Amino acid sequence: MPTTLQATPGNKPSQRLRFAYKGASLSLLIFSLGWFVYFASIQNWPLACADLCIIVLGGIGWLLVRRNQFDVALMVSEVAFLAFTVAFCLVFDVPSEAHPRVSHLFLPAIALMAYFNYLRTRSPFQLLVIAGSLLSFIFFSSTKFAPSFALSIPDDIRHVGIWINSTLATAMLCGGVYAIHRESSGQSQLSRALRTAVRNDELELHFQPQVDHAQKIVGAEALLRWTHPRRGNISPGEFIPVAEECGLMPLIGGWVLKEACRTLATWKHDPALSELTLAVNVSANQFNLEGFEQSVLETVALYGVDPGKLKLELTETVIISGVEPVVAKMNTLRAAGIEFALDDFGTGYSSLSYLRQLPVSQLKIDRSFVKESLESPSGASLIRSIVRMGLELELSVLAEGIETVPQHLFLLDCGCHEFQGYHFGRPVPEHVFRTEVATRMRTTQNSSRPAPEPRSVATG
Ligand code: C2E
Ligand code: MG
Ligand code: MG
Repeated sequence: MPTTLQATPGNKPSQRLRFAYKGASLSLLIFSLGWFVYFASIQNWPLACADLCIIVLGGIGWLLVRRNQFDVALMVSEVAFLAFTVAFCLVFDVPSEAHPRVSHLFLPAIALMAYFNYLRTRSPFQLLVIAGSLLSFIFFSSTKFAPSFALSIPDDIRHVGIWINSTLATAMLCGGVYAIHRESSGQSQLSRALRTAVRNDELELHFQPQVDHAQKIVGAEALLRWTHPRRGNISPGEFIPVAEECGLMPLIGGWVLKEACRTLATWKHDPALSELTLAVNVSANQFNLEGFEQSVLETVALYGVDPGKLKLELTETVIISGVEPVVAKMNTLRAAGIEFALDDFGTGYSSLSYLRQLPVSQLKIDRSFVKESLESPSGASLIRSIVRMGLELELSVLAEGIETVPQHLFLLDCGCHEFQGYHFGRPVPEHVFRTEVATRMRTTQNSSRPAPEPRSVATG
């Protein structure tokens, strides 16, 4: 069993999971509809209403998933089915001399569903649902308790119903176990494939330009790409969390660093590229490894690159295990000339006191803020405040994810120093990046206009 079922970026469910959930909701809907029609035909209105409740709940869950609100759908389903099952056991499914209670057999399946969610997103809420389901299961298995207002299901109906319900509850349990097995084996397959990928050269670095106020390329960010022989391109948002979870990040991060330094070493001899900085993403658990700073310094020395051209991008999660050791490591690397940028600024802890302590030279404003900047006045004032704060701390401010001219103009007006985004160029293989830089250089030299328009790799 895995420690965490990492979902795709932002903990998005896989297509298979969404499909399974929709399938389960639909089956429940059809099953309850069958009972509803039956109870309505014999005019047992309380039971018909109970089935109507299930139909509505199944429908709500199905709609939520269709609207991409998978996590909400799961939470609503868990709570609703737990409450419904407990109420049904108390009011309708009261054991008789001839027949046992069976509806409580659905409770372990609800606990399993909550456990599955707990593995995806750890939260005390899921633990509460698990505890509530299991305690209710123990209670209903051990007692024939029924309140005085109970409306027990007639024995002739129970006669068939107990077989149907206990079969369905067992099927749900098996389905839950199978779903957990599929998700976890999918991940272990991914982690095995990642190990092979490093050995078989399936990983590659792509380079995305970073430009200054005059749209001159001043650097690039190295972004990892993985082309799986069968699955094709797998996004870093999907495989990096898995790599972190299964301890592969030192191996992959080490490869990225070497590849970045090897690239910088080749740029040294090209006048168009020799002045560019190269930013490399470093994940928190890679940075917090013992000896990380030595391994960086050794790699820089091995390839003979100017440390001032290397920039390490950290996110605020790096300080999770205390700020002092992080600052000490950063200072060692800064003393050698290596710069730091704080990536995805605003999406993490964003504590100003940490920000002041961390010796970073650049703030990278997350693209979600850039996107919101032109969508609402509050989005615009938020980004202005972030930029102002960066400027007051005397940091260079880079806006990520610029896709359009209005976004660029707005962030230019806010006072940002540097820009990155599809508007200036997508991440591309090194040879394409090289050509792009050379083309832009020629355009700038030949053009009388100060700021050339972005070309081939730019899409904005
Ligand atoms: P990041 O470091 O914030 O990188 C920026 C991401 O935004 C990249 O996604 C880039 O392709 C994307 N991007 C850039 N401009 C735009 C734009 O205008 N619009 C949109 N929609 N997206 C834009 P990518 O390459 O998928 O990487 C995702 C994340 O994976 C990175 O976010 C970084 O956190 C991580 N990552 C990528 N490569 C590495 C690596 O070598 N090591 C580590 N530790 N993490 C990496
Ligand atoms: Mg980055
Ligand atoms: Mg970023």
